[in-house]
Amino acid sequence: MTDCIFCKIVAGDIPAKKCFEDDLVLAFHDIHPLRPTHILVIPKKHIASLADVGTEDEPVLGRMLSVAQKLAAENGSGDGFRCIINTGRVGGQEVPHLHLHILGGPEPVGPMVKNLKE
Ligand code: 5GP
Ligand code: ZN
Repeated sequence: MTDCIFCKIVAGDIPAKKCFEDDLVLAFHDIHPLRPTHILVIPKKHIASLADVGTEDEPVLGRMLSVAQKLAAENGSGDGFRCIINTGRVGGQEVPHLHLHILGGPEPVGPMVKNLKE
């Protein structure tokens, strides 16, 4: 996808602070970190969102999760972390290329989501 910002990062056309790369995935630091550790793990192949995956994507989906612990530990979050995949309008997804947020740091990340009824 030529107009996709994360595809441009994969292609090297836009700079990013990369922290891991293999045949299937690329990981880099979020440009606006919300916690001391805030890493994005993306498939190198363009997949718009978790709503667009098929069974053929299971290897890359597994890889995205299986590298999370190593990346968290290597980047200041060895005592736990949170993974989030925002999906579509309701999920609050802003960049339409599937990405896994890894959030952490020395302190607890905080409540999961706000209860809208409170
Ligand atoms: P979403 O809301 O789609 O789940 O999250 C998109 C994330 O991508 C945001 O946290 C945002 O800060 C990050 N982001 C957007 N553009 C760029 C960029 O060009 N480089 C990097 N490193 N992160 C980006
Ligand atoms: Zn893309």
